[in-house]
Amino acid sequence: MPLSDITTRMTAAETAAGRVPGSTTLIAVSKVQPNERVEGVLSQGHRCFGENRVQEAAGKWPMFREQFDGIDLHLIGPLQSNKARQAMELCDAIHSVDRPKLAKTLARLAQELGACPDLFIQVNTGEEDQKAGILPTEADGFIAECRALDLPVRGLMCIPPVHEEPALHFALLAKMAARNGLSGLSMGMSADFETAIALGATHVRVGSAIFGERTLGRT
Ligand SMILES: *Cc1c(COP(=O)(O)O)cnc(C)c1O
Repeated sequence: MPLSDITTRMTAAETAAGRVPGSTTLIAVSKVQPNERVEGVLSQGHRCFGENRVQEAAGKWPMFREQFDGIDLHLIGPLQSNKARQAMELCDAIHSVDRPKLAKTLARLAQELGACPDLFIQVNTGEEDQKAGILPTEADGFIAECRALDLPVRGLMCIPPVHEEPALHFALLAKMAARNGLSGLSMGMSADFETAIALGATHVRVGSAIFGERTLGRT
């Protein structure tokens, strides 16, 4: 689907929700996509992208940054502590902060590097065993802990369970962000970004709807 179709749908969803048109950031999720497709989207002027693996991001984005100015790169996948430094050097935002050990590592590296990407705390709203994210009951405490470490926490992120109504999860995340005074909400993917916008998403992460299906079979 052309990028302009996605932005048109986003604007319609914002307007329907009484929100300012253009106020939601579109993160084009380029994981596993061939470089030509990513270049195609860059050539249309889009600059905000998401990757879910540090290694893969490191393999292509330094190169794209030499070709295109103003790239805004978001890490949206799970982050191991031993990749934190590389992620911080490479990315403008990290959406997967989900445990105290990682938060402490990020805080130490932020001191050392003198800078830190914008951070989103991932909440496992569906309490799924296999999924990353802090549990909802532990989220308030963890947010406070990150703040005490002086980390730049901008908002919350979630990935709803596949077979559940996403709106319930988006609403829960929005409520959690509001009670913690956080303005950022990273939620909504190809299948549900309009629902996420209706419920206050500030960042939607859209992959296959922009680039087509991922061919390598991993998500
Ligand atoms: C892959 C991925 C997306 C994009 O998924 P689509 O359904 O292709 O839009 C969004 N968020 C995360 C965390 C992802 O890993």
